[in-house]
Amino acid sequence: MDKPIASVSQTRAILDEFQAHAKKSFGQNFLVDASVVKKTAGCADAGGAVIEIGPGLGALTQQLALLSQHVTAYEIDSAMMQVLAKTLHDYDNVEIIHQDFLECDLEEKIQELKQKYGTVSVCSNLPYCITSPVLFRLFESSEEIQTITVMVQKEVADRFLAGPGSENYGAISVEGGYLYTCARIMQVKASCFMPAPKVDSTVIQFRRKENPIPVEDRDAFFSLIKGCFKQRRKTIYNNLKEYLGDAELARTILQEAEIDESSRAQQCSLEEFCRLDACRTKKR
Ligand code: SAM
Repeated sequence: MDKPIASVSQTRAILDEFQAHAKKSFGQNFLVDASVVKKTAGCADAGGAVIEIGPGLGALTQQLALLSQHVTAYEIDSAMMQVLAKTLHDYDNVEIIHQDFLECDLEEKIQELKQKYGTVSVCSNLPYCITSPVLFRLFESSEEIQTITVMVQKEVADRFLAGPGSENYGAISVEGGYLYTCARIMQVKASCFMPAPKVDSTVIQFRRKENPIPVEDRDAFFSLIKGCFKQRRKTIYNNLKEYLGDAELARTILQEAEIDESSRAQQCSLEEFCRLDACRTKKR
């Protein structure tokens, strides 16, 4: 195998060669621990096609390229294009797309990859500044992603691992929990990155559920969840009233779903949100 990109000496040498530096605005904290890279890629169900968000210098991409049939990596930073052309030169199964991942045509790409390679997984050391929009985007894409393996801030991982009643529980936890089971893969110390972030990180994995609770319209369900969490300090009734624009309807469906109207969305379980959605659907 080629020399791993993920080491302090390689990362320094690459940055020096290209007179590049880690940009805070793009959340650039490069992985410099080869064992973390190996373990992350190794558990990412990378046998088919893999989508990576933010290849940076190519540390994780390199390992994914060795394990998968094909890697599609979206990178926003133009300075990385030249770097990646060199660091990943030897891997002909890698496609680097110079684009903001939040603006790419994800549905089309997943469809294309699924047809060619059978399965599509996501694996990324996420730029922390856009963790939530990226995950919402992945959860809300209509095409199927089997596994999502991502490095996130420890506090963000806690959101997914915490259940209802926890401060950390939010709309993203419910959406994620509806489609996927979530597990912590490993904790990662700040010293495994260059530059070292101020917080510790966690690799978490979302594995697609085979039989999620059926809902009539998934987009409408996700929109309802977001509506219920709109203002966390408000009761679910107040948020729902505003979301539906109808106080009476909000009260009725909460009663029918057996949800206490004085509770807050962060106290409600996935099953309760599903019941609420079913009652709302019946009233349409
Ligand atoms: N994968 C590399 C690694 O593990 O060493 C770099 C990870 S670094 C935490 C995040 C990467 O995401 C950076 O390369 C950054 O430029 C890129 N990035 C930031 N925002 C992005 C966006 N909206 N779309 C695509 N890439 C983005």
